[in-house]
Amino acid sequence: FFASVEMAPGDPILGLTETYLADSRPGKINLGVGIYVDEQGRIPLLPTVHEVEQALVAAGRPRGYLPIDGLPAYNQLTQQLLFGAESPLLAEGRVATAQTIGGSAALRVAADLLKQVAGTGARIAISNPSWGNHHAVFRTAGFELLQYRYYDPASHGLDFAGMLEDLGKLEPGTVVLLHACCHNPTGVDLDAAQWQQVIALLQERRLLPFIDMAYQGFDQGIEPDATAVRLLAASGSEAFVVANSYSKSFSLYGERVGALSMIGADRGEATRLLSKIKQTIRANYSSPSAHGASLVAGVLGSTELRARWEQELGEMRARIHAMRAGFVDKLAALGAPDFSFINKQAGMFSYSGLSEAQVRRLRDEYAIYALDSGRICVAALNRGNLDAVAAAVAAVSG
Ligand code: PMP
Repeated sequence: FFASVEMAPGDPILGLTETYLADSRPGKINLGVGIYVDEQGRIPLLPTVHEVEQALVAAGRPRGYLPIDGLPAYNQLTQQLLFGAESPLLAEGRVATAQTIGGSAALRVAADLLKQVAGTGARIAISNPSWGNHHAVFRTAGFELLQYRYYDPASHGLDFAGMLEDLGKLEPGTVVLLHACCHNPTGVDLDAAQWQQVIALLQERRLLPFIDMAYQGFDQGIEPDATAVRLLAASGSEAFVVANSYSKSFSLYGERVGALSMIGADRGEATRLLSKIKQTIRANYSSPSAHGASLVAGVLGSTELRARWEQELGEMRARIHAMRAGFVDKLAALGAPDFSFINKQAGMFSYSGLSEAQVRRLRDEYAIYALDSGRICVAALNRGNLDAVAAAVAAVSG
């Protein structure tokens, strides 16, 4: 039966972690990861999450199935977080939201559904570069993949003119995948005025905006990081999609908490969309798991816990900003080429501008691991390793 099965290529990021773990050099540093770790290099358990979890355990609740579309309170609180509690979209019943297994399943469920709607002409435009799984998910769902220009290596910033030009050439009906904030892997985002321009262009060309928001709260805060979603909601666009993840913002990676929201033209359309979302989930994994969603709903559903959670999120964000600034300062003090652009990039990641050869030298000569693309996880920096990383980066880039 399986003799003809070939070996699938390994995941490059997980492969890097395996090499890192096997490295016996003391003082090795892994900047290749995609998670937030604290000053001690640990994944934090947020105190608010811990508190809700202890209460849940103490209550000794039975373990029934959740509905196909997940925990109702979680979905409602998610809508409020994404669109704002006062959003007319919510009042008008235009948003169909379902809890999903992380942001990844939100992407996949939406991809399957959108493919059903579009049929053989399903096309999606993805930023160049983007998170690798975007391509895998939409390709596997049967989409034709297109790219639009995004990152400009010369300025280490956004190629906005190139982006507009490429989006302007897309066929009507094409899905356009956009990172809401903290673009993975570059850390380069659009500002509000640029979002306005992109949204107007998508409307004019009848392109479907698909926002992936995996890092809400990791750049400026819950509200400002939702700018793209809020502007879309206010734009009069009759349809768009949002996939969101709580993996990072609640430090709940392994609990797999995310949601898919599809916005329709009216209540009837949203009701039909939700029925299709449920049908798609049912045929994939039947229903999502309960624990992580109960934790998120427990925190977001309490005014007091929610306020404390925003502070905890603020501490993660502040540490990332401090590491960016510290890294840039140290590199400057060491006489390295200008790395000040790292301060302008947002979120956990930075496209450092290091070449593949420089990344290899970091690994071989200094036991410092980064992705071949030059992406580093700024959250993996701390006061204990900052000097060593800055010295090594200055050495390979000098
Ligand atoms: N989108 C982007 C841009 C991401 O970086 C990630 C996580 N690495 C996801 C979606 C998926 O998140 P989750 O782990 O919740 O499935």
